[in-house]
This record gives sequence, C-alpha cells and structure tokens, in this order.
Amino acid sequence: MIIGKHLIAGKWTGADATFRSAPVSGEPLAFPVGGAIEVDAAVTAAEEAFWSFGYSERETRARFLRRVADEIEARGAEITEMATRETGLPVPRIEGERGRTTGQLRLFADHIEAGAYLDRRHDAALPDRAPLPRPEIRLVQRPVGPVAVFGASNFPLAFSVAGGDTASALAAGCPVVVKGHPAHPGTSDLVAQAFAAAIEAEGLHPGVFSLLQGNTNDLGAALVQHPLIKAVGFTGSLGGGRALFDLCAARSEPIPFFGELGAVNPVFILPAALNARAGEIARGWAASLAMGAGQFCTNPGVVILPEGMNADAFVAEAVESLSAVASQVTLTEGIAAAFQAGRETVRSVAGVETLFEGGCGDRSVEPQLYRVKGHELLASDGLLHEVFGPLGIVVTAADADEMLAIARSLEGQLTCTLQMDAEDRELAARLMPVLERKAGRILANGFPTGVEVCDAMVHGGPYPASTNFGATSVGTMAIRRFLRPVSYQNLPTDLLPADAL
Ligand code: NAP
Repeated sequence: MIIGKHLIAGKWTGADATFRSAPVSGEPLAFPVGGAIEVDAAVTAAEEAFWSFGYSERETRARFLRRVADEIEARGAEITEMATRETGLPVPRIEGERGRTTGQLRLFADHIEAGAYLDRRHDAALPDRAPLPRPEIRLVQRPVGPVAVFGASNFPLAFSVAGGDTASALAAGCPVVVKGHPAHPGTSDLVAQAFAAAIEAEGLHPGVFSLLQGNTNDLGAALVQHPLIKAVGFTGSLGGGRALFDLCAARSEPIPFFGELGAVNPVFILPAALNARAGEIARGWAASLAMGAGQFCTNPGVVILPEGMNADAFVAEAVESLSAVASQVTLTEGIAAAFQAGRETVRSVAGVETLFEGGCGDRSVEPQLYRVKGHELLASDGLLHEVFGPLGIVVTAADADEMLAIARSLEGQLTCTLQMDAEDRELAARLMPVLERKAGRILANGFPTGVEVCDAMVHGGPYPASTNFGATSVGTMAIRRFLRPVSYQNLPTDLLPADAL
C-alpha cells in the first residue's frame, strides 16, 4: 500500500503542500512536496548515521544491501503494478528492471566483501634511507559522507530510489538522501518501504536512507546546497543537471556532482560493412533506436555512413523498420513535448531532409527519421544534441576524411559504435584515437542500447555525456565516486581503520 509521505530517518512525514501524480492509467495520488525543512531533517540524520554506518564493517553493509534486495522482491508484484501504471512501461520491462536493480544491490554486496575496491597501498618504512628516512605510509579509500541521489524518470527502478547511485553510495558507507522523481512517486514510495524494512531488520541507524518527494526545483536545489551533503548522483536532462552542477560548484565548499546527462551515441558504419550488410545493420539500428520509446540514454540517435547506393539501401530498410514501430507511451507529457520541440529543431536545420515522420500525441511518440550530408552537418549547430525519443539522423559522409572530421566534431558521448568488417580495419584504426577521446564506451558490431552491469563497464564520458569523465554510474567502479583516498603516515596499527590493514 502507498503511504504517500516522505520517509525521513525512519519516520513517514507528510507536508501541507502536495502534488498529484500523473499515471498513464489509474487514479492520480497525492504526495507531499518537500522543501528546505525536510532536506535539513533528512541530511542531519544522514550525517548522524554516518558516524556508525560510515565506519561499519563491509559485511554489515553487504548484508544490508542484500536485505534491501530481498525486501524489494517481497514487494515485487505491487511495485510492478504501480510502476507500469505510473510510467506506461510494459510489465516485462519493469520486471526486468527490478531484476537488474536487485542484482545490482547484490553485486555491490559481493564487491565490497571482496575488498579490491579499497585499493589499499602500503609503503613500508625505510628508517635507514639517506639522506632522509621514509615513514610508513598506508592508503585506503574512505566514504565521503552523506550523498544526495536524484531518481531518473526513465528507469523508475534501476536508476531511481534503489538504483545504481544509491547502491554504490551505500556500499561505500555513505548514507543516502534520495530526491524522488515526480514521474513515479508511488513506485518510489514502495521502494522506500523496502528500505525502511531492511534498516529495521538490520538494526541500522534510520538516517542511513531517506526519501524526499516533490516536484519543484527548490527541493533539489536545497538538497545539493545543504552543507552536510558531500556528493551528488544524478541522471536526467542537460539543463537540469547543469543547473544542479553549477549550484554544487558555487557552494562555499564545492562538492562533486556526478551527472549523467545525455548523448546521441553515434554509430559509424564503415564502407565494407555497409556494402556487405546494409539491410541487417539498418534493422538492428532501427530496433536499438526505437527501444524503450527512445528513452534510454544509450539509444543511438545518429548514424554516419559513406554516401552512395549502399547508403540508399540502408535508408530504405531503416524507413521500413521504423515505420513498422507502433506508437509508444512516453514517461511523462513533458518528455513528449520535448520530443516534438527537438523534432522542430532538427527539421529547421539547413540541409536536413525528412525521410519518415510518425505521429506524436500528448504522451506518445512514433519514430522520426532525417538525413543530412556530412558537410551540412559540420556547418550546422544543434543537430547532434540528444532528442529524448526515437528520432534518428542519417549522416552521409563524402569520404573517409569527412567521416573523421565528423568524429572530431562530436561532443562527449556515452558510447560510440563501429560497424566494421575486416577490410574496414584501416579506417577503424584512424577513427579509434578520436572516438576514444569522445566516449566512455566504444563498441564494435553491436548497438549501444542496454548497459551491462559489471566490473568493466563505463557508463559516462566527457561532458555533456557526464559532468565527470573519471566516473561511471553503472558497474562496480561506480563506488569510486563516493570514496576518497586517505593516507596514514606512521599511525599505530590499532588506530588505523580495519580496511587499511
Ligand atoms: P530532469 O528534468 O533533468 O529532472 C531530473 C531531476 O532533476 C528531477 O528530480 C527534477 O526535479 C530535478 N531537476 C531538474 N531541473 C532542476 C533544477 N533546475 N533545479 C533543481 N532540480 C532540478 O529530467 P527528466 O524529468 O527525467 O526528463 C526530462 C528530460 O531529461 C528528457 O526529455 C530528456 O531530455 C532528459 N533525460 C535524459 C536522460 C539520460 O539518461 N540522458 C534520462 C532522463 C531524462 P523537479 O522537476 O521536481 O525539480
């Protein structure tokens, strides 16, 4: 059952001001709108909790993460029902996402138990070294303190209340205050109930986790500016992310803002691959582009390929595939409106030819496909920005040099993909050093939609893909965002944290 309140340090708390949810089906529900008072209560409790949780044994935190996963599973049917109603996403998608969310929590439990993330270093003392002796120095990673997490609209479970940001921060030993996304407050409420049950069962300080509900910029702004917040995890729009990043940087004590903001995820189709399998690649690209109503941050919005007959064959197949995609519900009305505005921007760029335009509604989208020549793309501004939804742009390059020039003109990306055959190796080798500077993940002969949660994953990249190119929001390396290295010089062993030894 939905409680319809904030969860602040173990207590369900209401507020005078409320907002109503906007589910695709079913009745809207009322939720409180948090503000500075709720932020202060939750963050103060998180700081208090840090004095125990931040110094807890890794086994304690691993048990807690596994318990949260169990409690989410215990509420699985209810969560699925609420999440499908709120987002319009189909049941299999939500169930898959729930599995990913609980799997992620358990992965971080295993990860901290294994301990390699601590990156322990030890320089033994050299008392007889001349001209100066060397002290004993040990290094270990320590948790940073309370972390703010913003739930993302597009993954109501895996990037939301119990998503990768929360799981990695808790694994590190950082209490978390979540700003729930107003597009799925009921789902957030149910997941917060799972946290409350797990905290009670494990006997942890209740300030370890709080959920603040709300639909105002003021709430998020107050949260990132609270002096006790030490880092922020965010997935969302470039505009919102940049505003919050700027607030973090302008604090008297600036803090890191780990924002994953967006990308067009270009796919480069090299000549031999295009010649050998234009139709197959076009079908794969169309499926990847339209997956999840184009609302994945890894949907590939742009393909770059050599102009000519093979490009025409690619386009014909892509049009056929995309025109067969049914209308899909968007997560919010705002996303549908932003999609239509993005379409207008693309259409208005000189040289852009419309290949296919499906219909759009107040909360639904169909695929759109456009084509532009490489030199026109290079002369334009505003074409290679994320349009959140199934909008594709086919860019035809006059030759290999133009393809390389397009690669160089890219801004930061989450992914870049090469479709290549053996004969394309030379061009691929020219592109690689450029793509490596542009993206967090480079793929060969696949499509980027879908991100494996594993040790070697980077889901990030240079700005604007993310606000911190040294970080990932998916995979076990995500924990590094919420740790800082501390050196201990000549400290007696009994004063060192157990993890340092
Ligand atoms: P959003 O507008 O950036 O909102 C994300 C979160 O940030 C919400 O909790 C929002 O809360 C808060 N927020 C936004 N602007 C803020 C500001 N100026 N100050 C303080 N808090 C702020 O993203 P969205 O609602 O999920 O979707 C809108 C657009 O974001 C999409 O059309 C798409 O372009 C993009 N998006 C991209 C990705 C990606 O993975 N790249 C994922 C999701 C969305 P309030 O609204 O309550 O303030």
